[in-house]
Amino acid sequence: MRVEMLIDGRWTAGTGTFATHDPATGEVIANVAMGTPADVDAAVSAAARAFEDPSWSALSPAGRALLLLRLADLLEQNADEIARLETTDQGQPLPVSAGFSVPNAVEHLRYYAGWATKITGVTTPVSVPDVDHRTHREPLGVCGLITPWNFPLTILVWKLAPALAAGNTVVVKPAEQTPLSTLRLAELVEEAGFPAGVVNVVTGGPDVGQALVAHRRVAKISFTGSTEVGREIAAVCGRDLRRVSLELGGKTPSIVTADADVDQAVQGNLAGGFLNSGQVCAAYSRLYVDRRRADEFVDKLARAASEMRLGPGLADGTEVGPLVSEEQVVRVDSYVQIGRDEGAEVVTGGERPGMAGYFYRPTVLAGVTQEMRVAREEIFGPVLSVLTYDDPDEVVALANDSDYGLAAVIWSRDIGRANRIAGQVRAGTVYLNLPPVMDAAAPWGGMRSSGVGREMGWEAVAAFTEVKSIWTER
Ligand code: NAD
Repeated sequence: MRVEMLIDGRWTAGTGTFATHDPATGEVIANVAMGTPADVDAAVSAAARAFEDPSWSALSPAGRALLLLRLADLLEQNADEIARLETTDQGQPLPVSAGFSVPNAVEHLRYYAGWATKITGVTTPVSVPDVDHRTHREPLGVCGLITPWNFPLTILVWKLAPALAAGNTVVVKPAEQTPLSTLRLAELVEEAGFPAGVVNVVTGGPDVGQALVAHRRVAKISFTGSTEVGREIAAVCGRDLRRVSLELGGKTPSIVTADADVDQAVQGNLAGGFLNSGQVCAAYSRLYVDRRRADEFVDKLARAASEMRLGPGLADGTEVGPLVSEEQVVRVDSYVQIGRDEGAEVVTGGERPGMAGYFYRPTVLAGVTQEMRVAREEIFGPVLSVLTYDDPDEVVALANDSDYGLAAVIWSRDIGRANRIAGQVRAGTVYLNLPPVMDAAAPWGGMRSSGVGREMGWEAVAAFTEVKSIWTER
């Protein structure tokens, strides 16, 4: 397994190393190269050269598609090994890494391989006499891709696939907690035959990310991570007038109406709330339940949550794995304590299970009210907050009373009502009677503090291209 950085087609040691841990045991699994701003500069320079080099810039769209398809095949051929690597570094149960993370990345590579040959402009019926007008979509140049630790491989590929399909070159900065699947993917990028310098990876901490964001030759930053860091990045990119896409935090409201199928809503909220131990930007975390169904809902939810099997991601039957780090366990536990202090009731969970590793019990808080911090702030852990409402007409206002707007969920047997609420709720994605699902073809992104721009679908291609107008004398 590679632990160096990939810069200009060469595996490069850093000035030192940093450790990455197995969250299920706390043990060190690898010591990875610690990058510096000088490494970022070398990687950006390599990407800038590769952007101009005919081996990439003159490669046909079909040639780019072929490289992406080869990378998809290689990822698929190595899927078992890479899923285990993701689980070992990040903690997610193997059914999540093998059933979602890796196949979703493969799907994205194939989907955007398809787009590479379809990035068309338009001819425009202009009113100026004796001229023709057409548009081209051109790549931006060097793109900086900065990723978080919750779905390291998948989120990287959401950015990498459309960036490369459009003809950009990239410098990737994976999260310091989970760099291994990114380095493994970089090996496959080489094996697929991408020219040197088209994909570079610099590992390290926030200072490496900052150096990438600040670099004048970076045309665009695509960032997924916390809202706090997203704001900082937006400020720097705004000042320098560089393109930026931001996929940030969330606090997904899940509305259970009086006519909902409560058993379905319980199962769906468990799936949406405890996926990857709640370390999901769109985790179903604010559950608004009609008071007439609240007792039944909380009873069933708490019973099912308490029965979920907690364990190492590689162990058979594990439903909830560890959190990514000790720091994250401390943060989640402190939020549960804040909830208690604010008057919420811990119906189940609310503690560490007393085993090695970074585990936390699936937790249900009841009696939560709108102003409590556990209803307003992103916890990013296995904690569901249940709020009740009396008036169906007020629930949309409660759901919208949040800084975030990434996703929202509605549980109702009345599909007309569910669709009306979907139209009123302020969120980039709305699920009706569903646990979270994603697809490379379906745009994903947030409103308000959940971010700027969209990933997936055509929108991601648009976000990695610039439109040029070309006028010709007739
Ligand atoms: P984070 O913001 O702390 O770090 C994300 C990445 O940014 C890491 O690679 C980190 O090293 C780097 N970084 C940190 N400070 C930086 C700076 N000042 N300049 C440049 N780079 C910097 O986030 P995290 O804790 O790794 O991830 C959790 C967050 O990500 C949550 O808030 C979650 O909601 C969000 N997230 C959002 C989505 C989405 O699609 N909207 C998906 C996954 C995660």
